[in-house]
Amino acid sequence: MSNPRPAAPKATVPRKRVLLLGLSVLLCIGFFSTTLISYRVSRNAIRESILTQELPLTSDNIYSEILKDLVRPVFISSMMASDTFLRDWTLRGERDTSEITRYLKEIMARYGAFTSFFVSEASHHYYHPSGVLKTVRADEPLDAWYFRVRRLMEPYEINVDQDMANRNLLTIFINYRVLDYEGHLLGVTGVGLAMDSVRTALQAYQERFGRRISFVDTHGRIVLYGNGADMQSGNINEIPGLRDQAKTILTQGAGNYQYTRDGQTHLLNVRYIPELKWFLFVEKTEDEALAGIRQTLYVNLGVCALVSLLVVGITGLALRRYQERLEELATTDKLTGLLNRQSLDALLHQAITRARRSGTPLALLLADVDHFKAVNDEHGHLVGDEVLRRVAQTLREQLRESDTVCRWGGEEFLIIVQDCDASAALALAEKLRVAVADGMPAAGQALSRVTVSLGVAELKPKESEDALVGRADAAMYAAKDAGRNCVRLG
Ligand code: GH3
Ligand code: MG
Ligand code: MG
Repeated sequence: MSNPRPAAPKATVPRKRVLLLGLSVLLCIGFFSTTLISYRVSRNAIRESILTQELPLTSDNIYSEILKDLVRPVFISSMMASDTFLRDWTLRGERDTSEITRYLKEIMARYGAFTSFFVSEASHHYYHPSGVLKTVRADEPLDAWYFRVRRLMEPYEINVDQDMANRNLLTIFINYRVLDYEGHLLGVTGVGLAMDSVRTALQAYQERFGRRISFVDTHGRIVLYGNGADMQSGNINEIPGLRDQAKTILTQGAGNYQYTRDGQTHLLNVRYIPELKWFLFVEKTEDEALAGIRQTLYVNLGVCALVSLLVVGITGLALRRYQERLEELATTDKLTGLLNRQSLDALLHQAITRARRSGTPLALLLADVDHFKAVNDEHGHLVGDEVLRRVAQTLREQLRESDTVCRWGGEEFLIIVQDCDASAALALAEKLRVAVADGMPAAGQALSRVTVSLGVAELKPKESEDALVGRADAAMYAAKDAGRNCVRLG
């Protein structure tokens, strides 16, 4: 017995491919665009946060370190300027130099100062812990600072300089005016201290956070760049990229800037430090800042590609299974429009279960077209097909809604009749036989009579489906043996 199963339409395969391709394109567009958009959004957010928070915060911290470093030497120098010994010794005529050098040495040792000094207004002597260093002269450029402080309205000035002896040390000189008890100038005193906290902070920010910190004077000269090893001289007016903005920076002072140098975008925060008369530059390259999220971007893109592949793969697999299942589940026979054998298997099982539960009889009828092979042989398959269609139609017309008929095989039809015992089934089979015999062939067809042989079986208690079908089949063969175009009970 052949089992006709409708072949999958040829268009399904390319359509499936188009569907999967469309899905891949959609997924890729969806995933990649959201990933790239979120990358751009985070990049802008990071850039914004570097410019408005991170760099200014570093600048604030450096500034507070500078203030911390400034407070101590100012305090020491102020103490020296109001020291009665220093004033009395000067007023007494600066007689014993050893007294002042001992005093300066003591200050230096006690406060860990890099240097301490006193310049007398009366003698112009420059006193140093090691003795009289020199006599300051108005025409000597190196001594200009003294004559500047002499005329100063404020009690002191801060002069930050790199220590010549040790390039690593940024040294603050406090030049404090010393006045006598009537307020007349006696000279200038003070200490020089290393800016240790600033130096430590600079190094930490440079090494740990990848931010470059430099100090630029009002002429644009880079006076200090991170720690000693990184020291870079030059002028911001000469740095490519920065050159164009140098004027704005030096006139406007504080602000956020961006410039491109060697193909890299530099994010720059600038603030002016009035105490030092220097600009503090804190900068970071965008590449460094974005390295983290760029890696996340690559990971995300990889994950997207993987997920897309998985989704497309799983969808393809599911589609194939679904298609197979659809084919399997296709319930109708294409040629006759009757139920096919697969669907009948399930229905027969249900009908038997129901009949057993309700205790009502159930009968099976198996009809087989007589000498059908001869129809094919003599008239061709197309006519054979037409005969099958018409037999199917005749059977359907004779049956009730509640009866189930299927194309069981090539030219075999199986009918389930509910609530029907053997004698009623025999009568029905006879009715069908007559209907087919009388109804065929169609007018105008040069076709010999078409008849069917039918086997009938009533479900026995505890009988299996296969056994029931087997009995109907056997009965059908008995009808064949009896000369065909007749009905037999199994
Ligand atoms: P018998 O009276 O003993 O049943 O003889 P038969 O020729 O009908 O029996 P057989 O089983 O030898 O032949 C059945 C034929 O049905 C063989 C096969 O080619 C034909 N057939 C099966 N399915 C189809 C179909 O879908 N269309 C057509 N045209 N022929 C079919
Ligand atoms: Mg047959
Ligand atoms: Mg046959």
